[in-house]
This record gives sequence, structure tokens and C-alpha cells, in this order.
Amino acid sequence: MKGIDVILEKLGIADVNHGVTTGQASWESGGALLESFSPVDGRRIGAVRQAAHADYGRVVETASLAFKTWRSIPAPKRGEIVRQMGVKLREYKQELGTLVSYETGKSLQEGLGEVQEMIDICDFATGLSRQLYGLTMHSERPQHRMYEQWHPLGVVGIISAFNFPVAVWSWNSMIAWVCGNVCVWKPSEKTPLTAIACQHIIQDVLKDNHVPEGVSCIVSGGRDVGEWLAQDPRVALVSATGSIPMGRSVGEAVARRLGKSLLELGGNNAIIVTPTADLKVAIPAIVFGAVGTAGQRCTSTRRLIVHDSIFEEVKSRLAKAYGQLKIGNPLDPGIHVGPLIDQQAVRQYQNAAEQIKQAGGSFVVAPGIPEGDPYTSGCYVTPCIAEVENHWAIVQHETFAPILYLIRYHDAEEAIALQNDVPQGLSSAIFTNDLRDAEQFLSFGGSDCGIANVNIGTSGAEIGGAFGGEKETGGGRESGSDAWKAYMRRQTNTINYGTALPLAQGIKFEIE
Ligand code: NAD
Repeated sequence: MKGIDVILEKLGIADVNHGVTTGQASWESGGALLESFSPVDGRRIGAVRQAAHADYGRVVETASLAFKTWRSIPAPKRGEIVRQMGVKLREYKQELGTLVSYETGKSLQEGLGEVQEMIDICDFATGLSRQLYGLTMHSERPQHRMYEQWHPLGVVGIISAFNFPVAVWSWNSMIAWVCGNVCVWKPSEKTPLTAIACQHIIQDVLKDNHVPEGVSCIVSGGRDVGEWLAQDPRVALVSATGSIPMGRSVGEAVARRLGKSLLELGGNNAIIVTPTADLKVAIPAIVFGAVGTAGQRCTSTRRLIVHDSIFEEVKSRLAKAYGQLKIGNPLDPGIHVGPLIDQQAVRQYQNAAEQIKQAGGSFVVAPGIPEGDPYTSGCYVTPCIAEVENHWAIVQHETFAPILYLIRYHDAEEAIALQNDVPQGLSSAIFTNDLRDAEQFLSFGGSDCGIANVNIGTSGAEIGGAFGGEKETGGGRESGSDAWKAYMRRQTNTINYGTALPLAQGIKFEIE
């Protein structure tokens, strides 16, 4: 890509980088080299030296030490430091956003949007730093006061996925920091450079504010580094974003040592389209949800549950819309669909297409691999649509690619049952102008997902709400609302300011 060298230079990440850093310092790490290739054009962007086990151990030690200083800085002062990080991110938005696009293959708009999300969460966390409220309760005993406080946890381990290579880190770290924790980040091995770029961007803020070394750490590497974090009793909370098998493995390892985990895993998101839906609003939302980020969002629309009476109309409108999609370099603003992350993802897309055929599915828009000059990386695929049945194994499984399943329903209850009948529970939506359908969908008997929208697609959440899903999606909540509580421990305090010792529940215990 033209101009990428200038961007890499400006972000301080040209060629080989140290993938182990503790905020201000980059460490000479001893692990193997991890090279990053762009799925856009196949170019080698740079390389990162991974963490060896000894590097990892030293980083967690440094982080644990830093925690003792960082937790004693008043929360609003920590918030002020996070505010300054937001200012730096504003300064580097264009460069970081472009690198996010180039390293992941998402559109430039989405790359910039991801950095904007980081900026927004900095603002949110700054305000939050003055609102880490606990409750005061009335004691049942005279001259007693009872209240609760929230204290920091310690070292927070962050394991992130490739598809939101920087925003997910900021959702976790900015909130964890104002709460008084220190962070050790294990970024995706598929997007190692964007992580190092983030550390470089905030480095001056850490230095200028004399933040102890170890508050913001990175340990680059693959699955094994993530496993070290999951198994390490010094890591109080492991916040892991990724596939369901990864979450199962992390969840089990953390539970075995009775640590805390926050899991943000795969989805299998559906949109219900009712007979009263405004298709002018619904169709673009469905297409964006299914093909945006080449179907590689945890909230991508995978299943479309359409009422019998409008099924054929929706089908033909979608086929027409798909006919207009432009596939190609995602940095070009006229392009709708960029590449998948790598060739392994392309093989998974092809396998899924094969399984759909074998199960008896019929394609409304056929799958395929575009050929020719712009597709040299071998990571591009054609978004497709297939008529299927919800219970088929392939439909029950999250395929991280632009494959949209069309499913027919007859009545509102059946639509909700179909929507819920998958192991995952992340995002869901209904398009309707019928108040009853909408309210039923949002009621306790409605969608079983962490996110349920009306007349909005499944993808594109705002940072102000708590983000996450149920069932095999893992149950975690991040970002807004009171998600901060996952990063703190609650302590209940009772103080006796009287001269007697009344016991709770009226128990008498008298001795001289
Ligand atoms: P992945 O599971 O392959 O990897 C995610 C991260 O986990 C990587 O950093 C990887 O190195 C690490 N990892 C893998 N196995 C591990 C193990 N056993 N122990 C510790 N760490 C391990 O996922 P991916 O391909 O990078 O991302 C796509 C997946 O992530 C999809 O399933 C998507 O739905 C999910 N995702 C979920 C959310 C959410 O908020 N719910 C957000 C983004 C992505």
C-alpha cells in the first residue's frame, strides 16, 4: 500500500519490533519472530519479536509491582491520565485507523471508527473515574454504619481477537486503569503491529505523568502466551475475547485456580423480519450486518428469519443488493467488501459452503473466490446467501465469513424460538412496525441475547451500553453501563461507633 511506510515510521513500528513492552520500555524479548502480512495485498508489513516464557514472567512481576503504586493514585487522577491518552489517540487517529484497516482488511471507515471508539471510551472512563460508587445501607444494629466500597483487583490480563485489534483492548484497559488495576495485553497474533502502535501512542503520556513501569504491558505471541495468562494465579482477572473454543479453554483454566474471567466469545446473530417491517430500513441493515467487515464481526448478521408473506420479496431484494456489492481493496472508499483475515479463513468459508450444499441448502447468491489483479493476497471471497434450516449443524456454528442464512417463519412465537435456538447468545434484532411484535421480542420470553435491537441491525454497538452475550458467548459484559464492576472487588464495611457490642440477628453472647 502506498504511504504505509510513512505511517509505520510515524507510529514508530517500522520493520522488527519488540513485542514485549512495559509501558515506557521495550524489552529485548527472546521469543520467535512473528511476521504480519496484510490481507489487503499480501505485503509483509513488519515483524514482532514474541514473548518467551521468561519474558512473560518478568512482565507480570513488573506489573504486580506497579500495581502497588498505581492503586494508591486517586481514581480521578488516574482518569486524568486516561483523558490524556484520549488526546493522543485523537492526534494519531488517521495513522492508527489506517494501520488497523491494512492489518485486518477492514474498511478505512471502520478502521477510523475503531479508533474513534477508543477515544470515546477514554472520555467515558475519565468521567467514570469520579463515579465508582458504592452503596450505604442502614444497619440493623444501633450506632453502626454499613457501606460498601469497590477496590481494584490487581493485574488484569487482556486476550484480544484479530477483528477488533485495538478497540477491545481499550474497552478493557481504560476502564481497568481508572479502577486502579494494571494491564497485561496479549494481542492477536494475526494483528501484532496495531498493538505495539497503541503502546507507542500512549507512551509519552505514561512517561510525562511518571506512571510506574508495568501499568500498561504487552506480551506478544500466540495461544501459548494466552494460556500462561489464564493459568497464572498472579493475574486476578482474565478478560478474553475470541472464539468459543478459546473461551472454554481460558474459562476452565481460570476457574481451576478460582480466578475471575470475563469472556466475550462468538455469536450467531439473527434478524427477524416481520410482515410490517419497513424494508427500506431493513435491507441496508441486513446487508451491512452480513457483509460489513467481510462478515468478521462477532455481531455480524448470520441468520435472517423472514415471515412467509414477505419471504420472496426480501429474497429478491437481497439478491439485487448483493449484485451491487463491490469487492476489493478496503482502503478504497467505493468498496463494500474487503478480504478475510487470512487464507485459513478462506478455507473455512469454502468448507462451510460445501457443508451447506451437502445439507441440502440452496444458494440465492452463490459463494466463490474472485480472481484477478486486485485479489493477489488470496484472502478475498464473495458474500453469499443460502436458504437453509435452522437446526442444521453448519447453521448452528459460527462461520467467520460473509455467509447469510435465510430461514422462513410462520408466526411470531416461532420466529423468536428460531432466533433463540442456537448455542450462542450475543446480538439479535427485529424489524417491525408492530408494537406487539417488538415488545414480545424484548420481553423475558423474547430474545435470549445480550443485545436485542428494534429496527437496527445486529452489529455496531455504542460504548455507553454494557456489551456482551449469553450462553456460549460467555456471559461477560464490557465497556459502558456498570461493566466496570467486573474490574473491581466489592468490600462490605460495618463500623460500630457505640459503646456496646450488639450482634446481628439479635444473638445474645454475654460474658464479663
Ligand atoms: P481466536 O479464538 O482464534 O483468538 C482470540 C485470541 O485468543 C488470540 O489472541 C489467541 O492467541 C488467543 N487464544 C487462542 N486460544 C487460546 C487458548 N487456548 N488460551 C488462551 N488464549 C488463546 O479468535 P479470532 O479468530 O482472533 O477472533 C474471532 C472470534 O472472536 C470469533 O469467534 C468472534 O465472534 C470472536 N469475537 C468475539 C467478540 C465479543 O465481544 N463477543 C469480539 C470480537 C471477536
